[in-house]
Amino acid sequence: MYEQMLKCLHCGAQYPLERMFEGCPRCKKDSFQSNVVVDYDYEKIKEAVTRDVLQKRHVLGVWKWQEFLPVDPALGITLGEGGTPLLPCRNLGPVLGMSHLCIKDESRNPTHTFKDRSAAVGAAVARKFGSRHLIAGGGNTAAAAAAYGAVSGLQVISFENLDESKQAILQTLSYGGKVVYLKKYEDRYPLMKTCVDALAAHPVSSYTRSPTGDPYSEEGRKTVAFEICEQLSWNVPDTVIVPTGMGFGLFAVWRGFQDLFTTGFIDALPQMVAVESSAGGSLTKTLTSRSDSIQRVVTAPTIAKHILVPQVGYQAYRAVRDSGGVALTVEDDEILDAVFSLATHEGVYASTTSAAAIAAAKNLHESGYIDAEDTVACVITGGGLKDSDIIETHFSLPDPVGGDWNTFVTLMKTHYNMVL
Ligand SMILES: [Zn+2]
Repeated sequence: MYEQMLKCLHCGAQYPLERMFEGCPRCKKDSFQSNVVVDYDYEKIKEAVTRDVLQKRHVLGVWKWQEFLPVDPALGITLGEGGTPLLPCRNLGPVLGMSHLCIKDESRNPTHTFKDRSAAVGAAVARKFGSRHLIAGGGNTAAAAAAYGAVSGLQVISFENLDESKQAILQTLSYGGKVVYLKKYEDRYPLMKTCVDALAAHPVSSYTRSPTGDPYSEEGRKTVAFEICEQLSWNVPDTVIVPTGMGFGLFAVWRGFQDLFTTGFIDALPQMVAVESSAGGSLTKTLTSRSDSIQRVVTAPTIAKHILVPQVGYQAYRAVRDSGGVALTVEDDEILDAVFSLATHEGVYASTTSAAAIAAAKNLHESGYIDAEDTVACVITGGGLKDSDIIETHFSLPDPVGGDWNTFVTLMKTHYNMVL
């Protein structure tokens, strides 16, 4: 394998490839923590593999890119994660005035979100370190961890917010995960830390106030970028939009493009766009204030709860800043419009969180940031089935009918305003 060290994103300090989940101790301050990331021997990767070799490799998904992952693929168990389509928005693109709008449809993953990519690698890394437990901060992350824990022989414990979607909770329980509800969000911090210290549990979510997280499992999600480039015949989108909570997914995708650029597989880098809910917006506020001190915000309720956090991680700030990108917030009504636009125009039923990317693309085109001819890739991070509690409030279901034609015609007119 080609991983060689952990490296601080802020001060460059180097650390051995050991369990390290609380960021860089060297540059830590009361109000700041930097992430550490896995560093690879890119020269050796270049010697070992080429674009042609990768393209001809008959493995679909995350483990196809094994040279860029921090764990022996022999330790990984696949459920078919990754290898998702990059779909052109043939109908919605022209409606929004964008000729090359496309979506990376991550709802096709085994548990219906792109968290499967990191959970697959996380479970393998946990086995490498001899952990018997995976712990997750709840929601889709926990559902994905529970699925991979089930096939990897790992116990999974999830720490859930009280308002977590019931579908994600039931999914986690069904895979055998143990769900623990928290009285408040911050209660996860001490519980997860003690699990890591006392049980040698492997965390697939961050448990520090300034999100630092597991540097290994997130490497799985950078394969989103690898696939996008391969699917564009090794061209690079002008802009990549990622719904952003703590920012691990955003940074992972950015890292993927950087990896390909460093190895010479691509000759340009995209601008990374972070889209947040207006009910939070830590990164948007940080960038607006022109400060590299990450802003903590008081959150409000939103339908996009899977990207609602009080504080984004430093690495997300770096992804946007280093790529020359931008962060923005979108409102709940814009997100809902995007959910239904995507479903009715493209046949893709996205989660509310995911649809925020489409709402962002629309706003950025209207403001002139995105040109009509730009290639824009929106990462649809997960499917809408887990949001049924939100979606069902927007439809009234029709009364049942018998076999009478006239009753049927009347119903279509009165309920759907459809004249037959
Ligand atoms: Zn540091």
